[in-house]
Amino acid sequence: MLGVFGGTFDPIHYGHLRSALEVKDIFGLIEIRLIPSAQPPHRAQPSVSAENRLKMLELAVEDHADLKIDDRELKRLGPSYMIDTLRSIRAEIGTQPVLLFIGTDAFNHLMTWHEWQGLFNYAHIIVLTRPNYALQTLNSFFIAHLSKDKTELAQNSAGKLYFQPIRQLDISATEIRNMLTEHKNPGFLLPDKVLTYIRQHQLYLR
Ligand code: ATP
Repeated sequence: MLGVFGGTFDPIHYGHLRSALEVKDIFGLIEIRLIPSAQPPHRAQPSVSAENRLKMLELAVEDHADLKIDDRELKRLGPSYMIDTLRSIRAEIGTQPVLLFIGTDAFNHLMTWHEWQGLFNYAHIIVLTRPNYALQTLNSFFIAHLSKDKTELAQNSAGKLYFQPIRQLDISATEIRNMLTEHKNPGFLLPDKVLTYIRQHQLYLR
């Protein structure tokens, strides 16, 4: 099974990294890909350029062969729709199961995503529990796709909704950006190499 973890990564932090590593082990994935979004259609645009966000991702995973970066959304023009990303991954890997991981906060807005129901044609959606975010009430579409049996994920290429509790790390990129703007030190919330890069390039100062 292949795992996909999308985000703006503005900047990448230990909440993302720990979650990605943890789900790789929990689901026995052959690969987990971090996919930075170029122009996220469903939220405010990132504070720093795609090049800087990609560089920070590269620094964050350079000593972790377990975590891969997939930069296809940065190479595509227009809004970074996840449905397009999953379609292109599916075209490359055949029928192998794909797990799309999203936090509870992202899942609560899933119905605003472009062709959101179509996502289930290309991947299973795995919702990761996240501190401070309550889960929305499930609609009938979600209930129809809900699975409580992990083995069903390996048996089908796509189409299931599964909830996975993971270690709770109360870290958000918003808080890190705010700390940097206020000249506070976000050390130990993100890798030192990423923080050094942010300081060298004077990112997030306003
Ligand atoms: P922002 O504060 O700018 O919204 P973020 O910290 O939520 O950023 P994103 O890049 O928007 O980070 O998130 C990408 C994905 O990672 C989303 O699915 C989000 O739910 C998930 N995620 C972010 N932080 C955590 C965390 N601490 N624990 C688990 N999942 C997380």
